[in-house]
Amino acid sequence: MEKVQFQAESKRLLEMMVNSIYSQKEVFLRELISNASDAIDKIYYKTLSDENLVFAKDNYYIKVVPNKENRTLKIVDTGIGMTKEELENNLGVIAKSGSLAFKTENESKDGHDIIGQFGVGFYAAFMVADLVTVETRALGSDEAYKWESEGADGYTIVPSSKESVGTEITLKIKENEEEESYDEFLEEYQLKSIIKKYSDFIRYPIKMDITSS
Ligand code: ADP
Ligand code: MG
Repeated sequence: MEKVQFQAESKRLLEMMVNSIYSQKEVFLRELISNASDAIDKIYYKTLSDENLVFAKDNYYIKVVPNKENRTLKIVDTGIGMTKEELENNLGVIAKSGSLAFKTENESKDGHDIIGQFGVGFYAAFMVADLVTVETRALGSDEAYKWESEGADGYTIVPSSKESVGTEITLKIKENEEEESYDEFLEEYQLKSIIKKYSDFIRYPIKMDITSS
């Protein structure tokens, strides 16, 4: 299966993310939840402009699913999803290319300001994950796709069997390093507090099964 290369700008941002220049890695969750919320908004606005559609509120939510055994964290949404073309265009290139230009102009040593002010979006996932999988089915489409990347050396897209409309992102959480632990991103309690801290204003339910005692 052939790997598609990221655009040069994306590659640079990805490398910054992988090397975790930013100390608050936990903001990756804010970015992914905000994308999930945007995706549900897109369905919501569609229903506003189409009198044949109703927004059945209970069907729209975001779910966070940690799995310590597999060392995975899933962020699931019932939003509008992406077509194959949208996967290529949205995840293969930098949406906020302005932020990287800003970074270059105001080269700050740790990258702290830039990410704090602008957010880095989807690629923030690579601060905590060494493999990112995005399974998605777009509203109105009878095809689903799986995008996968280990970081700067590119991504693959293959058909997926996902049956429901929306997006499921699976992060393979990095192994702990000598001075850096990633375990908190697999702990329900910690995830709950990160969500409370950064995503309290999100207007759709954010669900998580509580299993630990
Ligand atoms: P931004 O949110 O500022 O556009 P991101 O890097 O966070 O930048 O996301 C890039 C794009 O990828 C989004 O604009 C959107 O089109 C798409 N995307 C990301 N996550 C999702 C998702 N969960 N559902 C649908 N589309 C998504
Ligand atoms: Mg975003």
